[in-house]
Amino acid sequence: MRYQLYFLVLLGYFASPNTNAAQYFTPPDTQQVMIDVTFLSADLLEGRLTATPGEALAADYISARMQQLNLEPQPNHGTFVQTFEFDYKDNPHAAETRKLVGKNVAGFLDNGAKQTVVIGAHYDHLGYGGIGSLHAGEPAIHNGADDNASGIAAMLYLADKLQMKGAPKKRNYLFIAFSGEELGLVGSKRWVAADREGLEIAAMLNMDMVGRLRNKDNVLAIYGFGTSAAWAAALDASEKMSDITSVRDSSGVGPSDHTSFYLDEIPVLAAFTGQHGEYHKPGDDAHLVDFTGIIKVADYLYGVLESINGEKELVFLKTRQREQRQAAAFKVSLGVMPDYVYAGEGMKVDGVTEGRPGFKAGMQAGDVIVKMGDLEVKDIYDYMEGLSKNKAGDTTTVVVDRKGELIELEVTF
Ligand SMILES: [Zn+2]
Repeated sequence: MRYQLYFLVLLGYFASPNTNAAQYFTPPDTQQVMIDVTFLSADLLEGRLTATPGEALAADYISARMQQLNLEPQPNHGTFVQTFEFDYKDNPHAAETRKLVGKNVAGFLDNGAKQTVVIGAHYDHLGYGGIGSLHAGEPAIHNGADDNASGIAAMLYLADKLQMKGAPKKRNYLFIAFSGEELGLVGSKRWVAADREGLEIAAMLNMDMVGRLRNKDNVLAIYGFGTSAAWAAALDASEKMSDITSVRDSSGVGPSDHTSFYLDEIPVLAAFTGQHGEYHKPGDDAHLVDFTGIIKVADYLYGVLESINGEKELVFLKTRQREQRQAAAFKVSLGVMPDYVYAGEGMKVDGVTEGRPGFKAGMQAGDVIVKMGDLEVKDIYDYMEGLSKNKAGDTTTVVVDRKGELIELEVTF
């Protein structure tokens, strides 16, 4: 928090109209990105958990920024904020469900075109912890500066840049700040199913955690590369104008909102600057964010939009789901595909590869791994830790939850 106040004071000083222009050391675009990230990740917003006052404050801020950028509400919606009701369980085993109301925030840039490209980022985060948090200890505000104030700042930057002279304008743009992402892509699922109101969506670009570019030497992960044949040339063209190098993954399914669009057969791309030690912990703060990097990522996607501007039709392609990339780092694997969007406790298996240890032990798609040896598996990270404790030839007991029944399987790696 102290760093955040420092930034605000600093910005106030240098952005003051009395300051001589020669004293500026940060370009105005970068200043705006700093302000957006710093405000959204301030303690005042208490971690922006869906259906809390912190979420409402964030939604107000994003609406005000959309208005300032001369965007309009989505056609047939009237306001930037779009509420959605959903059932929520406080933990996966709770008997009671509660009805909660979340808020997506959408701003439309009307170019009078037939098709619309959705540019999205989620703005909700984990509040004081709970499900999804990797923090051990007393509840603490999870500020979510990288996850995902960074994506919102990049989205707002694009909303500005796409209105400038020479911008690609053969499609309309709808900028959506999603809520409920951390609870299982709730806001984006709802928007795709019920709130698109007849808009013809050409593609969806998602930005989730784009604030750590410099930590990875300007290497950017791009997901969904295989969801349209048009992406390869567009990414190559943009990369020529950027100092970003992309690492591309074909799958349209991943742990963020682009999945909701992919499953509706819309071509998607998702940008991600990579994992770090503060992921889903209270320490994901603004002072660790690479503000210039956020602009580089947004400019990179702007280049992609320029490239596809002349393409009449982006043809959707189905992609194969990939096995967890990090699994390669371990000496052994089960040969199962994790369900990246599973929000409950444990590690849910999406698919089982024939002939591999999981298959031989009788593991099935839909099983939720809850224990490996002595280790309780609460999430995918526990699962990876469980794997790392074994070597080829070892036998261990894996407990899976199969439709509510706990089953012990003997696995030999
Ligand atoms: Zn996120």
